[in-house]
Amino acid sequence: MKSEERREGLGSAKRFGTRYGRKTKLKFSKVETEQRKLHKCPYCSKVAVKRVALGIWQCRKCEAKFTGKAYSVTRKIVTKEAEEELEEPQAAEEQAGEAEVDE
Ligand SMILES: [Zn+2]
Repeated sequence: MKSEERREGLGSAKRFGTRYGRKTKLKFSKVETEQRKLHKCPYCSKVAVKRVALGIWQCRKCEAKFTGKAYSVTRKIVTKEAEEELEEPQAAEEQAGEAEVDE
């Protein structure tokens, strides 16, 4: 049963077979799942936005074509590591702001 769960986690990264290592493929799979799934349209609010190319998204419902993030329409938590990184930028921005004030 455990082996099946692991395979599920790999998702689309299964195509790489035994290559590149499990951790790398797990991360890749999370990003690619996010990239391939339908996203919510910022214009008509319908979940029908697909990625056309890197950073370019198009809504199937209202045909709106717009730019977004490379693998997601909005900045979104993809991996656990990204989640940890997301908590820090606030402090980093504050520090940057202070530095600008000092200058
Ligand atoms: Zn739309």
